[in-house]
Amino acid sequence: MEQKFVFMFDHEKAVGKKMLGGKGANLAEMTRLGLPVPYGFTVTTEACNAYYEAGEQLSEAATLQIKRSMEKLEKRTGKSLGDTNNPLLVSVRSGAVHSMPGMMDTVLNLGMNDETVKAIADLTHNPRFAYDSYRRFIQMFGDVVLGLDNSLYENHLENYRMSSGYTSDVQMTAEDWKEIIEAYKKITREAAGRTFPQDPYEQLFLSIRAVFDSWNNKRAVLYRRLHNIPGHLGTAVNVQSMVFGNMGNDSGTGVAFTRNPSTGESDLYGEYLINAQGEDVVAGIRTPQPINELKREMPDLYGELVKMCNLLEKHYKNMQDIEFTIENGALFFLQTRNGKRTAQSAVRIAVDMVNEGIVSEEEALLLVDPDQLSQLLHEHIDPEHTSQKLVTGLPASPGAATGEVVFDADKAELLSNEGRNVILVRPETTPEDIHGIVAAKATVTSRGGMTSHAAVVARGMGKACICGCGSINIDLETGRFTVAETIVEEGDVITVDGASGDIYLGEIATIEPEMSAVFRKLLGWADNTSTLGVRTNADTPEDVRKAVELGAEGVGLCRTEHMFMDPERLPAVQRMILAENKEERTKALEKLLPMQQQDFERIFETLRGRPITIRLLDPPLHEFLPNVEELLVDITRLELTDPESAELERKQKLLRSVRLLEESNPMLGLRGCRLGMVHPEIYEMQITALFQAMTGVLSKGIDVNPEIMIPLVSHVAELRETSGLVHKVAKEIGGRNGISLNYLTGTMIETPRAALTADEIASEADFFSFGTNDLTQTTFGFSRDDAEGKFLQYYIENGTLPDNPFMKLDQEGVGKLVESGVTLGKQTNPQLKTGICGEHGGDKDAIRFCFDKGLDYVSCSPFRVPAARLAAAQSALGSRQERKSVLQPG
Ligand code: PEP
Ligand code: MG
Repeated sequence: MEQKFVFMFDHEKAVGKKMLGGKGANLAEMTRLGLPVPYGFTVTTEACNAYYEAGEQLSEAATLQIKRSMEKLEKRTGKSLGDTNNPLLVSVRSGAVHSMPGMMDTVLNLGMNDETVKAIADLTHNPRFAYDSYRRFIQMFGDVVLGLDNSLYENHLENYRMSSGYTSDVQMTAEDWKEIIEAYKKITREAAGRTFPQDPYEQLFLSIRAVFDSWNNKRAVLYRRLHNIPGHLGTAVNVQSMVFGNMGNDSGTGVAFTRNPSTGESDLYGEYLINAQGEDVVAGIRTPQPINELKREMPDLYGELVKMCNLLEKHYKNMQDIEFTIENGALFFLQTRNGKRTAQSAVRIAVDMVNEGIVSEEEALLLVDPDQLSQLLHEHIDPEHTSQKLVTGLPASPGAATGEVVFDADKAELLSNEGRNVILVRPETTPEDIHGIVAAKATVTSRGGMTSHAAVVARGMGKACICGCGSINIDLETGRFTVAETIVEEGDVITVDGASGDIYLGEIATIEPEMSAVFRKLLGWADNTSTLGVRTNADTPEDVRKAVELGAEGVGLCRTEHMFMDPERLPAVQRMILAENKEERTKALEKLLPMQQQDFERIFETLRGRPITIRLLDPPLHEFLPNVEELLVDITRLELTDPESAELERKQKLLRSVRLLEESNPMLGLRGCRLGMVHPEIYEMQITALFQAMTGVLSKGIDVNPEIMIPLVSHVAELRETSGLVHKVAKEIGGRNGISLNYLTGTMIETPRAALTADEIASEADFFSFGTNDLTQTTFGFSRDDAEGKFLQYYIENGTLPDNPFMKLDQEGVGKLVESGVTLGKQTNPQLKTGICGEHGGDKDAIRFCFDKGLDYVSCSPFRVPAARLAAAQSALGSRQERKSVLQPG
């Protein structure tokens, strides 16, 4: 049977997004639901892939099927393409599986030519509309299909308007548009070296090809890279009969969210423009009216819109983002998709939808992306501040940011690469500015509404954004903007509050956010669903307290060296390192012991019996000593100024010690348990501090559950020897206090040898914690300190690796070692507790991986804990759903 490349919207079976793209699948779904959708068909993503495989050629089969579908469309609408009495006009739009707003191309009013325009003028009794539509088509065709610079057309139109004394397009008459059309045709001929095609089928096929080509344009490729969308998916093309929002004052076009995408409030939220086409709203060129106005202007139609939006929400079980057109008082739906929303809105919508009986608690958990949640935990402007706001725009995406003003996306990227904080200020943004939005801390635009490009893109990224700030006058030439008398130059610092839309001059303090009641509720549902534990990586009582507040079940990694790095303790640490004999070292350690003990006591008291994995000292010793270059500078200075001084002698001695400890490859050197074995008195001090703290806290009636972790083990003998020390100290201290101390001992698995011999190592361990930072380093052989700066960026840009393996767990390589480590370890010790504490512990994909491989918990930094709780619940739900679909195929 011939491969099916085209599906009509009312095709009897749901074909799905993979083939039809998101837009096509939803148009078909809305058609089936009985919503008023202009009729049409979808050319599949498979046709797009076949087009690329054939060297950018549309196959004969696809061509024929498109022609046949056009005939069906003609039959249904009673109009035909190119007909001089009753011409059919269509739109040709892209539609990939994942929504990529504004990244690919669209052609509207296709089918217009010198003849059909007359018919449209007669049929609508509106020649002005007909000729305006025709000129729009030529312009769009030139821009999108023939690749001409849009400003060629725009500049001509602008000059024409000025010379006619018009201030806006509304004043243009049909005769004016006719003149523009002739000029546009000439511009096209001269710039493209070909005439504007009059044959509607030629227009159609060229447009379909142009949409396929736009799948690989620069901005689409960048967008896909940013959102991890694979390049092989291809885009579908939707060919749909046109409805017109620019037929007069009973026509219009708009976009609406079924709930507020910024706050989550449950009212219809959106914007519309009377007498306009869809692109006018989306492009953000004219600032539209809020949708509430439509309630007043067209109450019946508004009622119908609300009813259908409710229907769509119930059907999709999700907040929808719709596009609609009103043609001579009749409402049409042109698109629906799950609406992008801020984290705050996502959480509120999820909880509200459960309360309204639209979704179950479990379904609600799937409505929030864990990656977004960090937005809720980020700083906002201190409400107590006394700064006077400069101006207010639309609060398009919440979050607070301070930075230098820049007016250009390239410059934003450049300065941000230098480590500077920038705020991108533009009249409006287009998809070409996307790299600037990525680089900037926040974006401000003077034009465009909440659904304009800048707003949608920034919201998706969780970045602060203020739109439609009409009171700022931007002068791109001189690099400044003005608000009344105030001038803000490029490089001046401003602060923006995306939640209120306020802009301030200078820097303002920001404060930590609090978890809202709805957020807590959602996370509570997550914990009920989840079976994977979430702990935190924290080394101070403050961080531990914060993490517990954010829902951590305990500490998965307490890096004790962070306690050593306190500037007040550093002199004692340095004395310990520089000691010339054991006696001296022991003396220095005795100074450190009470400090370390006090830290443990405070952390144990904060945890109140929750488990804590405490890792003994890990980094190389020279990290605690001064920098060689700085020492050399000091010594040279002292040699010149005070050659006899004791200070010079001390520094010279220090330099000798630093040099002695220096290693050419410190990451593979004297660190972890190796350090503890060469200098057992260091670990002995730490273990003593730990158990003394434990006995002290236990005596206050507070439970303590420590898990003592030996770092960087590669061979079971290392673990045996070091944990022997732990048991010896525990026995002594327990004996002295007349109690038996309960604790676990275990190791980090962070070298390939440890993972490969996990069965042997597990014979000496109560638990394993996978240190995937070092395990990634040692498995790839990539230095975790240098790789990113030296070559990883190239690898990622070049597509050699899909992601930075230090951020996204390399499941095929490093993951395989984790998996076999768990399996081998449990063979020897079925009670073995397993967790992950590398940076990956907070990443949703790694969390799913850990869930699938049967780990007991993940551990991440305090602010990632809520997202990890949600990701853990989603992992359980995802795996349940997958099991169900295996049991019930189809
Ligand atoms: C690791 O290696 O994954 C780890 C958590 O330890 P650190 O980052 O301290 O080396
Ligand atoms: Mg490590």
